[in-house]
Amino acid sequence: MPYALNRVTVPVTVDADKCIADKGCTVCVDVCPLDVLAIDLTKGTAYMKFDECWYCMPCEKDCPTGAVNVDIPYLLR
Ligand code: SF4
Ligand code: SF4
Repeated sequence: MPYALNRVTVPVTVDADKCIADKGCTVCVDVCPLDVLAIDLTKGTAYMKFDECWYCMPCEKDCPTGAVNVDIPYLLR
């Protein structure tokens, strides 16, 4: 799987101000069937580690603070 080198252009982004990974939340990482999300321990936020996505949405739906945004490609909508 390709590493997500640029965190700004990946389809799944996390609002660092809303993310509570620093308080122990790992919901989005746990629900992702592809295991492409991870927690950045130095920043205390979740992020897309691998640039691969099924657009299945549980990461966005289950995030308790609404920090996750999945940018669905136009052709899949
Ligand atoms: S589910 Fe939301 S609050 Fe929890 S780690 Fe993921 S982005 Fe952060
Ligand atoms: S939309 Fe699905 S595959 Fe993509 S990051 Fe979220 S849970 Fe993982």
